[in-house]
Amino acid sequence: RKTIGVLTSGGDAPGMNAAVRAVVRMGINRGFSVVGIRRGYSGLLANDMDDMDLRSVSDILQRGGTVLYSSRCPEFSEQRNIKKAVENCRKAGIDALVTIGGDGTFRGALDLCREGLPCIGLPGTIDNDISSSEYTIGFDTAVNTVVQMVDRVRDTSQSHDRCSVIEVMGRHAGHIALYAGIACGALAVLVPEIEFTIERDVVAKMVSSLRQGKQNFIVMVAEGVGHAPAIAEQIESLTGIDTNAVVLGYVQRGGSPTARERVIASQMGHHAVELIEQGIGKRVVVFRGGKVVDLDIEEALAMHKGIDMDLYRVANDISI
Ligand code: ATP
Repeated sequence: RKTIGVLTSGGDAPGMNAAVRAVVRMGINRGFSVVGIRRGYSGLLANDMDDMDLRSVSDILQRGGTVLYSSRCPEFSEQRNIKKAVENCRKAGIDALVTIGGDGTFRGALDLCREGLPCIGLPGTIDNDISSSEYTIGFDTAVNTVVQMVDRVRDTSQSHDRCSVIEVMGRHAGHIALYAGIACGALAVLVPEIEFTIERDVVAKMVSSLRQGKQNFIVMVAEGVGHAPAIAEQIESLTGIDTNAVVLGYVQRGGSPTARERVIASQMGHHAVELIEQGIGKRVVVFRGGKVVDLDIEEALAMHKGIDMDLYRVANDISI
């Protein structure tokens, strides 16, 4: 009987549990034993792992975070630690590994493959910043959380301040800001991928919309472009309009995964086990062209994904 190991690594994301559950249930369904490794690659180095049975993943589908815990493990970039991890897997009888995380996690998985341990990567991160996948587990929930929070901010800003600057997660990627910006009717979306000036892209638009009767404004800012309080101050001093700042922070990481998240995570976990069953390793399971497919890890890591310019145009053209 062959054994599959499963771990979650990097930033945790809602829907990771749904993916773990799918790997465990599908693995057992196909005659594998499944071992859960705690705290990502750190747990692999520390031998922190346990057998998982069908019921060990009961009642986790709807929960945010990851029951396997996650971590960053910087020492995993050292070759001797990769060898140690592969050796630990061998001792624990693990024949293949499913790693759920971002591009960093995929790099670790590639290193393990090169040392002879077949790995399948699943994309899990709220930022949607995985180069090979159009969609990552956690993104839909994070966007929905932002939208709920902004709707609340809007209720109060309607009564007091007239402009709210909302800072969302995304140090290098503006996907959350862009999606949530459209969904919340933001006047402007500021993201690290696209150059902007406050004068041209926020203030001039505000002045022109004010003339056309618009009374309240949402400006959506990805954290990578600057801090909401400073941007709010700048807008207020240039326009004279009362402006507040809201930094959403970690609330975006939590919460019960949306239905879409749970379905795609389940499909991806299922697909990972199908690959292992066929003796295939060194792949990532990704979402491309509306479908769950798999790619070679190296090929996936060499890909580039920018911000969706069609969506950006939508955001700009209708925020007047
Ligand atoms: P997120 O973007 O959500 O934080 P991530 O998987 O990209 O997810 P990282 O912290 O970059 O997050 O990577 C997770 C872990 O993967 C690292 O802590 C490290 O253990 C491992 N890792 C990252 N890069 C490499 C690499 N080049 N070689 C081996 N292992 C790596």
